[in-house]
Parts: sequence; structure tokens; C-alpha cells
Amino acid sequence: MDVGHQLDWPVRLRIEQAGAPVLHTPARDVSLEQLATPGVQQLIEMMFATLRGVGVGLAAPQIGLPLRLVVIEDPAPAHAAVDPDLLLAQGRVPVEPHVLVNPVLTVEDAEQAEFFEGCLSVEGYRAIVPRARSVRVRAVDRTGAPLERIAIGWYARILQHEIDHLDGRLYTERMRARTFVTAENSRIFWSDVPVAEVLERLESG
Ligand code: ZN
Repeated sequence: MDVGHQLDWPVRLRIEQAGAPVLHTPARDVSLEQLATPGVQQLIEMMFATLRGVGVGLAAPQIGLPLRLVVIEDPAPAHAAVDPDLLLAQGRVPVEPHVLVNPVLTVEDAEQAEFFEGCLSVEGYRAIVPRARSVRVRAVDRTGAPLERIAIGWYARILQHEIDHLDGRLYTERMRARTFVTAENSRIFWSDVPVAEVLERLESG
């Protein structure tokens, strides 16, 4: 895992796409010894560099490694292009960069929130995916220290999406199938339409 030489920044890793076996197979725990190695610490930096500007969460299987490790960052500048009403409805607030190792998720509020989401491993598409409104995550951070959080809104969605990756699941297994659209068409036809109306129109056919 240690690359053995200094890398030029920023380095973007290749992101595996749907169909790669690593995305459809449960990943394995990271030991604390493994986590402390320079190789894994550098891998975390490379995952953040890969994520920045293109997404809000990245799981190790997406870069081809079957490890239970996720990086998340949803910085305020990423919200500038999003309709403020949508941000409010999504419960989306900035989330600082952090790492979850061996995370375990439990549902706090099973009521479902439905919004379009996309995935760097299902490039070019989006779908409406029901997700629990609130979840609790227990994990260790990149230093190996225990971490526990209760998440609501968009952050809860990010956690469910990313931790699904560790179990070999993509959002396509949870989506409302008739809402699966290209990212381009989601912008052209559906970006200003309330989710309830999108569901009514796409699912009534
Ligand atoms: Zn994803």
C-alpha cells in the first residue's frame, strides 16, 4: 500500500464503475495497525484529493480497495450552485472533512426522505432514492480514536450511501427505478420540479 515515493499533488485516483466486482462485494475491516501505516494514511489523502470538486463522499471500494474506509467532505462552496430552497429541504449543511473506518450504521429515524442522488461509480446518472432521515454512525477516525455521531438530513444520506458501498451495494439497488435518468436530463427536465411531482410524473407511466 505504501507507494514508496513522493507523489505530486493533487493526485486523482481512478474511480471504479458499476460492474467492477469490488463494488458488488462486501469490504473487509481495516485493522488499527493497518490504519496507522503511512500507506493507508497517504491513501486517505489521495481519496480526499480524488473527491474534492467532484463529490461529497468516497468509499475505498470505489478506488478498487475492498476496505471499510470512507472519506466525507461537503464544503460550503459546493452549495453555492444549489437552490437554497432545495438545500433547506434536503437538510444540507456543510460537513467538515473526516474519515470513517469500520463504520456501523443504525437508523435513528426511519421516516424516508426522497431526493435525487448520484454516485461517482454510476457516472452520468441520477435517481430518486429513499433514505432514512436520521442515522447513528459508530466508527473510528483516521487516528484510530472511536467516533460516534447522529446525522440528519443530507449528511445522513451521505452516510447511508457510502456505507452501502462497504456492503457492496449501489444506490441502484435502492432507487425508485423509474426515476433513473441521465444527470444531464435531471438538470434539463427535473431540477426545478418538486420531488413529489417528479415521482408522480415518472412513476405514473
Ligand atoms: Zn457512490
